[in-house]
Amino acid sequence: GPGMADAAIRTTCPYCGVGCGVLATPDGKGGALIAGDPAHPANRGRLCSKGSALGETLGLGSRVLHPLMRNEAGGYDRVSWDIALDAVADGLKAIIAREGPEAVAFYLSGQLLTEDYYVANKLMKGFIGSPHVDTNSRLCMSSTVAGHKRVFGSDTVPGNYEDLDCADLIVLVGSNTAWCHPVLFRRIQQNRNERGARVVVIDPRVTATAEDCDLVLPLKPGSDSVLFAGLLVHLTEAGLIDQTYLERHTSGFDATLENARAIAPDLASIALRTGLNANDIAAFYALWAGTPAVVTAWSQGVNQSAQGTDKVAAILHCHLATGRIGRPGGGPFSLTGQPNAMGGREVGGLANMLAAHMGYTPVEIDRVRRFWNAPNMARSEGLKAVQMLDAVAEKRIRALWVMATNPAVSLPDADKVSAALNGLDLFIVSENVLSNDTLAAKPHIILPAAAWGEKDGTVTNSERRISRQRGFLPLPGEVKPDWWIICEVARRLGFGAAFGFRNGSEIYAEHAALSAFENEGSRDFDIGAHAGLSKHAYDRLKPVQWPVPIGQPQGTERLFADGGFFTPDRRAKLSTLAIPELAAARSDAFPLLLNTGRVRDHWHTMTRTGLSPRLSAHIGEPCIFVHPADAARFGLAEGGFARIANAHGAVILKVSLDPGAQPGSLFAPIHWSGETASHARIGAAVQPACDPYSGQPELKATPSSIAPV
Ligand code: SF4
Repeated sequence: GPGMADAAIRTTCPYCGVGCGVLATPDGKGGALIAGDPAHPANRGRLCSKGSALGETLGLGSRVLHPLMRNEAGGYDRVSWDIALDAVADGLKAIIAREGPEAVAFYLSGQLLTEDYYVANKLMKGFIGSPHVDTNSRLCMSSTVAGHKRVFGSDTVPGNYEDLDCADLIVLVGSNTAWCHPVLFRRIQQNRNERGARVVVIDPRVTATAEDCDLVLPLKPGSDSVLFAGLLVHLTEAGLIDQTYLERHTSGFDATLENARAIAPDLASIALRTGLNANDIAAFYALWAGTPAVVTAWSQGVNQSAQGTDKVAAILHCHLATGRIGRPGGGPFSLTGQPNAMGGREVGGLANMLAAHMGYTPVEIDRVRRFWNAPNMARSEGLKAVQMLDAVAEKRIRALWVMATNPAVSLPDADKVSAALNGLDLFIVSENVLSNDTLAAKPHIILPAAAWGEKDGTVTNSERRISRQRGFLPLPGEVKPDWWIICEVARRLGFGAAFGFRNGSEIYAEHAALSAFENEGSRDFDIGAHAGLSKHAYDRLKPVQWPVPIGQPQGTERLFADGGFFTPDRRAKLSTLAIPELAAARSDAFPLLLNTGRVRDHWHTMTRTGLSPRLSAHIGEPCIFVHPADAARFGLAEGGFARIANAHGAVILKVSLDPGAQPGSLFAPIHWSGETASHARIGAAVQPACDPYSGQPELKATPSSIAPV
């Protein structure tokens, strides 16, 4: 009711990229009552199971509350902030002096706030002089970033959530939306129930998302681009290409069509390559062709692939060729995984980006250098996540600072990652919790960072909407915000003048000014209207969709309906795809494809959702989902244990029979680690093969064996 809203603090959910508004009312005892914010455009008062259980996860029992340093016996001593920060700065200085700046790296996270991300990126790329800043967003949506940049010339999501309310057809590709973006799924269901929108689900697994739709296409893993190349051919043959849009606003169509015809020459070959029934494919094509208000939304099944960028491009091509982009109810739409994967992209948290969506062209390097007055600008792209950890293993990187993420669980080849981290000359971790698999690799310094409910800043959700996360609990123990920790280290490295920020609002205002610096509509990311924003205005900031250029404080709902892409010729660039195939095929030794992903009620490595018994009641232990036919073939029984093995590693998981699993495929949740159940760390059995454009690893198709134990 209104009484509650008056007492409540408006903040944003820390979990998925939907970015729901939350009303938090502190109870005065370290907890809070949680409700959905009816005024937030992402969720209009709704929350899913994870968001509504946030109040159950605020306890301090598992938190790290003081700076810690490893002692000679391998244990940890509590130290003061001064000692810890001096040790970080002195350690970095020594390695930079000995090995050069490129021997140090930061590995960041879509859990960080934009302000934290901004100062980390500024310190490394402008002042230390190393380009090696990457983030767990590399595992999440970097193929979408690369696909957007390749086709649009910029990393721009054209549409918004309202399109899901007013589309007549919604196509969900590689997404268990019902579990992973639940509040958006409810908006889609409402559209279907009230307006009769059709829903098509394209996913090798038949999931909860497929229970409420019009057509299910359980295609073979890795064949998404065959299906969408075939759609482009079908649209052409049906006379549905928007010639005016194509001629005015795009380039490269003819070669792209020729390439699509080679990949998907006819229905019979598309059926063969995708494993789908030809009638179902024809029904999908007819539906897409006949429905101008169509949203094609995708998530990790598209991104987490050795050809993720091609898959994204194949989808974008169909929308561009028909001019179905940037219109109410019409457009391609990337469903981002993490709460601030987008904010990280905006400040340049990816190794191949600089800041404010700028890249490593000489003009952009110089522009950012002048804006920062930076003494040591990075000159070229840095190492992406998997390569970065390879460089750690090979001792080309000697110092690594991990913030707000658990790479010893989430990166592929996770056993190798743990060993590499353990061998660093200087290993620093900023964390909320006292123990996890990355901490088990024994960092030299552990820095206690503020958690959700304590920290204060901005995040950007999947529809480009910037929202405030606001603190409503005091900082416990000696916990500090990430931005403060980074600025204190910067000061100790001699860069105090450029890092004298007193609060998040000053950082945000500088970030906004950089986005507008020498940007007369030439770049997509522009929040110039927020440059110099006062703390008062920042604290009252309402959710707004970028671009928010000077003179347009209401933001931007949609882009590209009338072209105006951010390529040099302002045209979208269609281009050819590689032959669709998996990074590695099944073999006699490894006859199954191991897929990984989320379950409904847990988030990442469960450091927060694991605290709620209610959330663990859904799926409470690590398991492997197996089709009953495969269970029979390999002698597996429901509830028995199985060993899943491949060239990279092995895990032991409990068998759960799933008729929705694709025969020949396995599915394992990503959430459990060696900390919560030994041998359940699925990353240990995931191959490190990556997309050539995005560097995103193929986390969904590692050839593997399974046997009962
Ligand atoms: Fe949080 Fe995502 Fe659920 Fe919304 S849908 S409440 S952002 S987890």
